Amino acid sequence: MTKSPWTRRHFLTSTSLAAASAAAGTSLSQPAPVRAADGASDAERSVDVLVCGGGPAGMAAAVLAARGGAKVLLVERYGRLGGMAVHARVAPLMGHSASPFVREVLDRIGGVRFDPDRLDLQYAELAEEAGAELLLHAWACQTLLDGNRVAGARFVSKQGMLNVRAKVTVDATGDGDVAFGAGAEYEQGREGDGLLQPMSIMYTVAGLDDARAIYCGSEEQAQKLLIEGRSWEAIVQSAQQAGQLPGNVGVVRTYRTSRPGEAAINATQINYVDGTKVHDLTKAELEGRRQAFQILDFLRKHAPGYENAYIAGMPAVVGVRETRRILGRDYLTRDDLIAGRRRDDAVVRAASFVIDIHNPDGAGQAQGLAERVKPYDIPYGCLVPKTVDGLLVAGRCISGSHEAHASYRVQQIAMALGSAAGAAAALATQSNTLPRDVDVTQVQTALALPS
Ligand SMILES: Cc1cc2nc3c(=O)[nH]c(=O)nc-3n(C[C@H](O)[C@H](O)[C@H](O)COP(=O)(O)OP(=O)(O)OC[C@H]3O[C@@H](n4cnc5c(N)ncnc54)[C@H](O)[C@@H]3O)c2cc1C
Repeated sequence: MTKSPWTRRHFLTSTSLAAASAAAGTSLSQPAPVRAADGASDAERSVDVLVCGGGPAGMAAAVLAARGGAKVLLVERYGRLGGMAVHARVAPLMGHSASPFVREVLDRIGGVRFDPDRLDLQYAELAEEAGAELLLHAWACQTLLDGNRVAGARFVSKQGMLNVRAKVTVDATGDGDVAFGAGAEYEQGREGDGLLQPMSIMYTVAGLDDARAIYCGSEEQAQKLLIEGRSWEAIVQSAQQAGQLPGNVGVVRTYRTSRPGEAAINATQINYVDGTKVHDLTKAELEGRRQAFQILDFLRKHAPGYENAYIAGMPAVVGVRETRRILGRDYLTRDDLIAGRRRDDAVVRAASFVIDIHNPDGAGQAQGLAERVKPYDIPYGCLVPKTVDGLLVAGRCISGSHEAHASYRVQQIAMALGSAAGAAAALATQSNTLPRDVDVTQVQTALALPS
């Protein structure tokens, strides 16, 4: 397998995704403009807060901004809200933080083991009850700029192009598409070689014998779980050496779902691919789905309770763990997480999840085992891009290192980040200030964060 020729850091200054793609050697034609007959009112919109992306971060941003009194439009490229949890069947909702909003959402959706076929509607209800407007099937493809200030985004849809102007835009696309389109500085991949965490097809299998089915959620558990005297880790390794598993599948993680007789499988691994490149995404979709069937055969043969398992749910899209990290006025590091650093300007308090780096360059975990952290704070400056105004980033694309990202990327923390961006966006529109000038203590109050 060849490695992608990334440089360690990409500091792109293009003002549109199309221009950036052209510079990278890919030519994209522009979609046709909306014609008056198609509904001229749809061609131009104006709101207080525009949220791009309807994952946990985007949903939370839309709810908090609307509860803060702003006129909000939440736009999602696919037909359902929920982000990776819904489109890529990623579960459960991991991570912790002291966020009252996340607690409220968990109570509402039935806990961390949610129903993936209902989650999108539950998120939509939360957003609509708060007063946010939703628009699905519209893809942010260009960033609208007034000088150095993001003034909204341009979307491509079945109707053509739609311009949405906004006082504040929240980029919750996971990939930082809007920030990228504004020419914001960003990092991608790990120090040294720029390699990213692998992609995975995460899927569910059903038909399990509940009384005997095994579950193993991490490398640590794989060492401890014994089946007829052999560890699950050893069973996986010998199957891999015998060619029964793909070469870079070092651990087969299985999680309980909310349904009887069903498990979520997190095991496929596609290395050396970049989720911001369509050819890499195409390759990952095909390779990941082939691996899923190979792993099903392995489970039927080696995992107690899985003898009659079948694939019950394939994701709509491949799961992407890591792409752009937009550089902000602050930056979170591994040391902050290991030390459990507290911050006066925190907008997420007591975040906690291991540093979970799926090996960018082979099987298993990059560091052997995931590294433990102490509950750490995330400062507001990690959501405020360093070089562009009018924009907040939320979710997995905030400002931090490859290692820190491997912890804060999980859904409960992404959601807490989104709620902070939404609260700050509402405050900025009310006081007619830029997001970078918002009083952080007011954001903390709006979020009801403990001190
Ligand atoms: C295989 C895999 C397994 C994982 N396992 C877990 C797990 O078990 N538990 C856990 O908590 N986390 C897990 N994660 C991590 C977690 O799912 C993500 O990091 C998290 O969903 C990030 O939230 P987000 O809102 O930032 O982004 P996302 O969930 O990716 O949401 C972004 C949304 O924006 C939309 N979007 C993207 N670009 C555009 C655009 N240009 N215009 C409009 N809309 C756009 C997307 O369609 C999507 O709905 C896993 C991730 C992967 C890939």
